[in-house]
Amino acid sequence: MTTPATPHYPEQVTGMDILARALKEMGIQNVYGLVGIPITEAAYIIQGKGIRFVGFRHEQQAGMAAATEGYLTKKPGVLMTVSSLGFLNGLTATANATVNCYPMIQISGASDPTMVDMNVGTYEQLDQYNTAKPLVKAVFRCSKAEDIPSAVARAYRAAVSGRPGGVYIDMTTPALGQVMNASDADKLFYKPVDLYSPVAPNAEAVSRAVETLVSAKRPAILLGKGAAYAQIDDKIKTIIEKYNIPYFPMSMAKGLMPDDGPLSALSCRSTIMKEADVVMLIGARLNWLLSFGKGRWNPDMKFIQLDVAPEEIDVNVPIAAPVVGDMGLALDAILAGMEGKTMSADPSWLQSLQAETKTKNAKFSERLVANKSATPMDHWTALGVIKPIMESNPDIILVNEGANTLDDTRDSINMSLPRHRVDCATWAIMGMGMGSMVGAAVATGKKVVAIEGDSAFGFSGMDFSTACRFGLPCTVVVFNNGGIYNGVGKPMDNTADPAPTTLNINARYDKLGEAFGAKAYYVQTPDELQKAFTEAIASGKPCLINVQLAADSGKESGHIGYLNPAPLEQITV
Ligand code: ADP
Ligand code: MG
Repeated sequence: MTTPATPHYPEQVTGMDILARALKEMGIQNVYGLVGIPITEAAYIIQGKGIRFVGFRHEQQAGMAAATEGYLTKKPGVLMTVSSLGFLNGLTATANATVNCYPMIQISGASDPTMVDMNVGTYEQLDQYNTAKPLVKAVFRCSKAEDIPSAVARAYRAAVSGRPGGVYIDMTTPALGQVMNASDADKLFYKPVDLYSPVAPNAEAVSRAVETLVSAKRPAILLGKGAAYAQIDDKIKTIIEKYNIPYFPMSMAKGLMPDDGPLSALSCRSTIMKEADVVMLIGARLNWLLSFGKGRWNPDMKFIQLDVAPEEIDVNVPIAAPVVGDMGLALDAILAGMEGKTMSADPSWLQSLQAETKTKNAKFSERLVANKSATPMDHWTALGVIKPIMESNPDIILVNEGANTLDDTRDSINMSLPRHRVDCATWAIMGMGMGSMVGAAVATGKKVVAIEGDSAFGFSGMDFSTACRFGLPCTVVVFNNGGIYNGVGKPMDNTADPAPTTLNINARYDKLGEAFGAKAYYVQTPDELQKAFTEAIASGKPCLINVQLAADSGKESGHIGYLNPAPLEQITV
């Protein structure tokens, strides 16, 4: 009798293994997501590959985490969601990332596209590919496992190249479940070459910019979050310090150069808009946040604009000297072109800005100490306590959202290191706090403080539990003034319901922290806040501080109330 030969089965893999390997080979270290059909198994396999899978309670927050990782690291953050609603929840963050030029990749499980196309009413049926398309830089659909490695590599390249942004991959159930011989799957992988390929601006544009800058009498540099993102900190420092050019940062560019440095014109924004003759925009857009470059701006202003996106030039006002290309290469060329040239700047320009800074800062610090012992606290009192502690711990990343909480925190806390401030950015959205906090902590390993309005916190509060499950060094500070803008809105006479802006001045957000095992504090006085905040950040553990503010602290829409349509009774004809 002869023993039958052992049949030879080739080693097999599924689309899920291929996805995990594709992410690993692209150097992805973290995936943020929320599992369910059809991606649960894929998430386990991804985790098994040594990629950190950070599971959230809401896809939008997982997406905000991925976007924040993208912004802080210049590599795409990855979001994974289920189909239909999970996809849509995540897409809000991916769209927001695209608007803000943060590189990220959203991978969502999707129904069989042949069934979606025939509208048969399959499980979680939605044409996700076409839904995502107008909101992101690029879309891919993997209908077969063979498509996955190339989709992931191309999505990576699309996310980081040119103007960074969000990319969507429709990861269909048939592709995830497809079985292949491992040896065939091996052949699908390739090492993409030159994934981020910076393009230099042309020489003529560079010399135009150089001439414009050196001939300026009252020059200034405006730094945007594109400049922070680009990680060209030394070049920015060189052009500013070598040529003595005053600068002012947009909110997320704070810290690229120190807010309190001798050339900082942070408090002279309106003066610069009105009186400068040349402003060099580095990675900032003349959008609503900068009054579109007109109105309050000197009408004869010459703008130099460094931007990777040619469609950004002349958007609202003609740009005298556009420099289109990678801004690191642009600054190299501009610095080379300026070699041996001297600035024509009027020395009194810088002196007057420095004098204005001094006066304004003195006034501002009065405001921060004025109410030092007032209870209940207002935003300024609380920030007067937090400011010195944050400033003496400059390496803590600050996440910030709200209305008054955003404006007042941005205005009062000086930053001295680049990429240490993440906020609601271009769309001025609410609901990025916990996601960005977790993303910042996971991506950098640093301590993170999130200063949140009570309304803002409500959008993402449940994902504080994510920071707790992962034991991240995050402190959340909730400024509770009992409402959207404030807690003193009066309901209309015909209702017993709360006013549309009213939340709960007595809400004990600290109990939410306790529910998830965090160290939680309820503070009512500046002294209690100081003690709690100091202890919380020192602990390096998840902490939540509920700061009781007065219900009348804060005004409608913070600094941007003018964007509200005026009610009829205020319109005079
Ligand atoms: P802010 O809100 O701070 O003004 P924006 O997001 O409006 O900043 O502007 C950032 C700009 O930076 C975008 O127009 C984007 O195209 C540009 N940008 C991002 N990365 C680069 C880069 N590496 N080189 C050149 N421009 C870049
Ligand atoms: Mg509030």
